[in-house]
Amino acid sequence: MPVDDVISAPQSADLLIPLIPGVVFQFHRSHSGKMRFSYLEGGGESLEHIDRQQLTADANPLIKQLTDSDYPKIMSAIERSARWMLPLSTRFRLPFPKDKPRWIAVSAKPASAADGVIWSGIMMDITEQVAEEQRLRRLCDTDPLTSLPNRRKLMLHLNHLSSLSARHGTPFSIMIADIDHFKQINDRWGHLEGDSILKQLATRTQALLRCEDMVARLGGEEFMVVLPLTPLQQCHKLANRLRDAIANYDFGIGAGQVTLSIGVAEYRCGEPLDSLITRADQALYSAKDIGRDCVCLLP
Ligand code: GH3
Ligand code: MG
Ligand code: MG
Repeated sequence: MPVDDVISAPQSADLLIPLIPGVVFQFHRSHSGKMRFSYLEGGGESLEHIDRQQLTADANPLIKQLTDSDYPKIMSAIERSARWMLPLSTRFRLPFPKDKPRWIAVSAKPASAADGVIWSGIMMDITEQVAEEQRLRRLCDTDPLTSLPNRRKLMLHLNHLSSLSARHGTPFSIMIADIDHFKQINDRWGHLEGDSILKQLATRTQALLRCEDMVARLGGEEFMVVLPLTPLQQCHKLANRLRDAIANYDFGIGAGQVTLSIGVAEYRCGEPLDSLITRADQALYSAKDIGRDCVCLLP
């Protein structure tokens, strides 16, 4: 039978829809805000544990299952779509009993109805696709040796933090830490031991700081720590605590063999990020000049 015939014949559509790997729906929202699925059919696993009969009368049991972050996202997407009669296109996590939540993409077109708005659309399980996106994003943002955020991720974070800081007048500071005489360490203990030190340093540094602080690898044996809500003096204190802890830690070649020079700087409201980084870099050079294993800040 030609494809057109299959689609145009209503009995065949009823047979076809349960076979497709997704859900076809009509979703209705009345002027009073009552939501229900006037139509909800399809295949795949996503409908198996859902009481369709109940959702025909009231969509809330499904909407209430959404996670705390997805709920406001979905509700504002519905609101925007209804207000401007724009297509609804978003994704959310659907909790599954005894299993991880599944990612669902929803795409629907709104139309005015006598007593509200009605959307006709489809939902697809995109869990595998989201997992692949997350894997690629992690690859893109992560330094492969230490698993720390890389320079790209760091710059995004700094941009975000500087705009928050400019908007709310909150302080933040950075440290640039560089291992002293790392070339000599490599020459003496070998490159593999050097790699192991870099990895351990990443883990130790993260363990010593708060979880909201970001430790990133700038490249080579150079790291940056970003400390939100931290003024310069407090950052200076934390840098000294980090320097001291590293100097007393045995990385497998004896305690005292690995030391850090650290430059610190505080963000000045509205300044370009380049100038903040240059100040921390200059402070780091001063720490090297003074004799290493120390922390410097520029006034
Ligand atoms: P300074 O105290 O002035 O910082 O001296 P330094 O020897 O640490 O600095 P220099 O810039 O002369 O050398 C940095 C060394 O870091 C040279 C390079 O081989 C080593 N290095 C950079 N990246 C890696 C890495 O991924 N693994 C290892 N094992 N070594 C690295
Ligand atoms: Mg160095
Ligand atoms: Mg260096």
